[in-house]
Amino acid sequence: MPKPANALPRILVLGAGLGGTIAAYEIRDATRGRAEVMVVSDSEDYWFVPSNPWVAVRWREPEAIRVPLAPVMAKKGIGFTSVGATRVHPAENRVELRDGSSIAYDWLVIATGPELAFDEIPGFGPDGHTVSVCKTDHAAHAADAFDAFCKNPRPIVVGAAQGASCFGPAYEFALILDTELRRRKIRDQVPMTFVTSEPYIGHLGLDGVGDTKGLLESQLRERHIKWVTNARVTRFDEGVAHVEEVGEDGAVKKTHDLPFGFSMLLPAFRGIKAVHGIEGLTNPRGFILADKHQRNPHFKNIYSLGVCVAIPPLGPTPVPVGVPKTGFMIESMVTAVAHNIAAELEGREPNEVPSWNAVCLADFGDGGVAFVAQPQIPPRNVNWSSHGKWVHIAKVGFEKYFIRKVRRGTSEPLYEKLVLQMLGIKKLKETTKEDV
Ligand SMILES: Cc1cc2nc3c(=O)[nH]c(=O)nc-3n(C[C@H](O)[C@H](O)[C@H](O)COP(=O)(O)OP(=O)(O)OC[C@H]3O[C@@H](n4cnc5c(N)ncnc54)[C@H](O)[C@@H]3O)c2cc1C
Repeated sequence: MPKPANALPRILVLGAGLGGTIAAYEIRDATRGRAEVMVVSDSEDYWFVPSNPWVAVRWREPEAIRVPLAPVMAKKGIGFTSVGATRVHPAENRVELRDGSSIAYDWLVIATGPELAFDEIPGFGPDGHTVSVCKTDHAAHAADAFDAFCKNPRPIVVGAAQGASCFGPAYEFALILDTELRRRKIRDQVPMTFVTSEPYIGHLGLDGVGDTKGLLESQLRERHIKWVTNARVTRFDEGVAHVEEVGEDGAVKKTHDLPFGFSMLLPAFRGIKAVHGIEGLTNPRGFILADKHQRNPHFKNIYSLGVCVAIPPLGPTPVPVGVPKTGFMIESMVTAVAHNIAAELEGREPNEVPSWNAVCLADFGDGGVAFVAQPQIPPRNVNWSSHGKWVHIAKVGFEKYFIRKVRRGTSEPLYEKLVLQMLGIKKLKETTKEDV
């Protein structure tokens, strides 16, 4: 879709997940009347991914976390297609779609989330021997598998594989399963093992936040869940996870053949095929390279946000672990991108820097663990974690609030601004001259 010569500049948002939808709303508000905003997704709907673990134990129906996007985008005056992209052509300022057509852009915002690298471990994932909660349709299949499992209870293996960067949902799911099995009165028949590439429980790809090590170890201990850290899974056979436990020196210390009747591990992520291997745009795993303003250093009219952004690991660990990109951190990227594109439209250089603050709630059904990391990458100004029943209530509140925000097409209502101000949690860093 080329642009007519006298048309407004076009800002194209690629991907309509947690980051892309909010980005479209916020960019549209920041550039109202001065640019055309369009969204390319590969789905008609927005799905609230953080509730997927609840879908897998039927605490939520998929329908409850779905928002059809076309009507909201139309109401907001944002162009929308769900055809999906096959390739970004940054040198030609266009994105090629699955139907063979192309959309030209003046600015591109990439928010395509992860491609799930299940294929890096034989037998892994929903096409192999384990279930997944990464996508809502995966979680719906996991719910069927869980119901069948409950009729014939056996051991459970849950966790995060080598190279994973998303650990909160792994703990969350292990503890949700424990709660649900107790509710179904079959927990006593289900030995559970948490298998993780993290060097210690509660590392979370962040070298811990506050006392996440103590809090999460204690949760696992109290609920009789054994664990293997520094774990590298070599393969999944039907009903058996083959795991190497690695020492500090990287050598294999012990091997475990863990039987299971139900298993979910978070996989490693990589960039989607439409951007993979583009010199100057992506790193070797297909994540988008971005400077502190979220702008690509080579293709200066391309910004990126969310899980698709390249962030180096915190430091070497015996088994590779990545840095998580959590919801609030992504929202801070969204706000910076919206302000920076608006500045460029006015002929100024981008100068907003996202705070990358992390506020995370991991719910266990009857309690949970919360942490605030400001900034997400240490050393930090705020490094706090806590636990209790309030986390479950807060997470349900957050789910309702975020889905409403997507349904209404608002990026940050006034009361959110006020609450964040009260808590002293900022989306943007205070910029200095050097940041410009
Ligand atoms: C199970 C799970 C639970 C999580 N829970 C939490 C939590 O409780 N709190 C928290 O802070 N974070 C959580 N996260 C981390 C993070 O907040 C989410 O992963 C979040 O959804 C990431 O947002 P995103 O926009 O980067 O990617 P996504 O939300 O995955 O969105 C990417 C979008 O791009 C689209 N797309 C992909 N390829 C194409 C293509 N070729 N063309 C067009 N569109 C395309 C996808 O369909 C998708 O809609 C969780 C992550 C997972 C996996």
